[in-house]
Amino acid sequence: MRILQEAQALTLRLLAGREAQTEPFVFSVYCLTEPVPGGRLLYHTLTKELLFLEDGEEQADYLRRRFFLIEEGTDERAAARDLRSTLQFLSRSRLQGYTRYTILPTTDCNARCFYCYEAGCEKLNMTAAAADRTARFILDSCASGELTLRFFGGEPLMGAASLDRICEALAENGKTYHSNIVTNGYLFTPERIRKAAALWHLKRAQITLDGTEEVYNARKDFVEDHDGAFRRVLDNIEGLLQAGIAVTVRLNMDEVNLPDLKTLAGQLAQRFGGYANFTVYPFLLFQDILSPSREKVERLFGLYREFRAELTEAGLLKPGKLPETLRLNHCMADDPASAVILPDGRLHACEHFTEGLFCGTVDAPAPKSATEAYWTEEFSEDDACAACPLYPDCFRMKNCPDRADRCIPQQREAEIEKLRIRMRAAYDRAVNGRPADDRLANDRTATPDRKEPDTP
Ligand code: SF4
Ligand code: SF4
Repeated sequence: MRILQEAQALTLRLLAGREAQTEPFVFSVYCLTEPVPGGRLLYHTLTKELLFLEDGEEQADYLRRRFFLIEEGTDERAAARDLRSTLQFLSRSRLQGYTRYTILPTTDCNARCFYCYEAGCEKLNMTAAAADRTARFILDSCASGELTLRFFGGEPLMGAASLDRICEALAENGKTYHSNIVTNGYLFTPERIRKAAALWHLKRAQITLDGTEEVYNARKDFVEDHDGAFRRVLDNIEGLLQAGIAVTVRLNMDEVNLPDLKTLAGQLAQRFGGYANFTVYPFLLFQDILSPSREKVERLFGLYREFRAELTEAGLLKPGKLPETLRLNHCMADDPASAVILPDGRLHACEHFTEGLFCGTVDAPAPKSATEAYWTEEFSEDDACAACPLYPDCFRMKNCPDRADRCIPQQREAEIEKLRIRMRAAYDRAVNGRPADDRLANDRTATPDRKEPDTP
């Protein structure tokens, strides 16, 4: 037997004494098994331990002590819920301030995508004074250590001057930080890329591509440019990669555009396949996932899984890393260490901010805990939860404006498949010594929840 990934130490300490004692023992619902050459892999979705057992090897006592084998009839969901609550409590009691800030320097955009949820939203732009007050708020409310800044919009590059101002103030005050951005990429220039690397400490850009040149230009319908946008964005992707900034391309797929996206994927592989920090993933649009037609949803997820496999085969989609710790929140909205700052200085929990539920302003912040009850409200459990290996990391958030009101079986299967792929990737790394840069994980969710766009 080989331990390929250790269990989360704190989890093991908290579960101590709950090991199965009385036979018959059965495998935990949270144990995923995957055959590999010469044996099998076992991954425990609650403890996060990954094992390799050779053919014929049993290791029953170890598996019992590590909760892979449990007593028949154990209420595993109750144990998982208890564990999560305790870990959340411990994590919150150590909280000193925010460590993650999502900054919207504008809600305006230079593209006009038909599917944009922000179409019709009020267009707000951050003024220089609001940027200064934002920087002051960050300095006053942050925890010690390096901060993560996330630039979102609208199109955040339309508010680049505000982002410069905020970062200059943080740097002048000796605060360490790095950033990532969700952008259409059009407004990058060589100078802006240099500044993004040097001043924003930009580590990753997420850029959505909707199709090959003609399709893209028509779907994005940029205000400034109808015909040259695709080429410009691709050049900017290259500029970012050359500056050492990782690029994650999201392909918004539906049944109609899939053939075109496959052509695009071929073009991307040819041009950017040699960059280790370039990744691509497909994304199903929310309105399609929520289609009332069961057949359509099944068909879509079938196509999605096939496309993922093709992108993986082409080396464009990196499998990402298996979770090593239990997930303690759904997203920024219920993460007590995360704040969202709007262009006018109002604070919110969710970057797709809905009217109301503001947490004060950068000048007069209100405690985020005031909205906690709203963001932590969950749907009642689905019948399938009892037998679902995703349960320990699953949040059935009721009030996310971007979430299905039901658990979609095909989506669940796709997420379990992602874990299996990651198990095999971890095995490849450990056994075949294949170097893998896990920072390139472009595909980090392990439960069928809708998350921030750069954590598909
Ligand atoms: S993925 Fe679905 S079935 Fe599984 S735990 Fe979450 S809500 Fe339940
Ligand atoms: S996942 Fe939902 S609740 Fe969380 S930030 Fe995104 S839209 Fe808001």
